[in-house]
Amino acid sequence: MDATPTSGGVPGGDATPASGGLTSGSDAAPPSGSDVAPPSGSDVAPPSGSDVAPPSGSDAAPPSGGAPGVDAALARAWVAAVAASVAAHAAELTDLDAAIGDGDHGVNLRRGFDAVVAALATLEADTAGAVLTKTGTTLVSKVGGASGPLYGSLFRALGKTLSDDSSVTTFGAGLRAGLDAIVRLGKAEPGDKTMVDALTPAVAAFEAATSSGLVAAATAAATAAADGAAATTPLQARKGRASYLGERSVGHQDPGATSTALIFAALADVT
Ligand code: ADP
Ligand code: MG
Repeated sequence: MDATPTSGGVPGGDATPASGGLTSGSDAAPPSGSDVAPPSGSDVAPPSGSDVAPPSGSDAAPPSGGAPGVDAALARAWVAAVAASVAAHAAELTDLDAAIGDGDHGVNLRRGFDAVVAALATLEADTAGAVLTKTGTTLVSKVGGASGPLYGSLFRALGKTLSDDSSVTTFGAGLRAGLDAIVRLGKAEPGDKTMVDALTPAVAAFEAATSSGLVAAATAAATAAADGAAATTPLQARKGRASYLGERSVGHQDPGATSTALIFAALADVT
């Protein structure tokens, strides 16, 4: 149910080719075919050595400005909270995707974040950058459907940005890099009824609140993401599988925007 033979990759209509569009522009190509959902139970093996851990000890440096940043423990807590939230909301995400997609978004993300939790349990490198990079590479390799490569790119870009500095400001820059990576890959713009509609305001809100500290920035981002997700309901989808429905996509909240709101709510919860 999470693979359709007619389309692979990030269904972006005209702008997004199938798997070629997913790998091009990415500095570490996901395993070939990772954009097509694997049959359930047959996870694609993660690409060995594809995630590059930042130099060890990079988290030990005090975040610039002296404000508390995002250390490895917080990164792990965030990802664990996302995994728990995705599991708790899997049915809801799947119902949303059943309305305007193929009904696998909850299943996809649950499988992916379960795999992330398992991967992090054996990850030795303990920096926020390494934790989030590993999260991204695992999502790319384990999640079928559009959301795997998209969220994988987000976390990988975030992790890479944090490799030398995990201050709040750098975390905001990492979120911005993650949004840019998703847009590069999926070619969606705000208003296309995708996760970009939640992520764009969330990143802007985080950046705007950075000087007030991590808690304020994460809380502002969570609120903006939830508002952005809610605002997708009246939109007609122009990217992704939902775009195939044309006007019939109107009146339903986008599943990916909804899961993005969960990701930021989890960040606000753990900060
Ligand atoms: P699939 O559509 O392949 O079944 P999922 O159901 O896991 O994948 O994810 C669907 C979500 O992915 C959509 O709700 C939307 O938010 C997001 N999405 C799909 N295509 C794009 C795109 N081109 N750019 C950004 N987000 C997209
Ligand atoms: Mg789907």
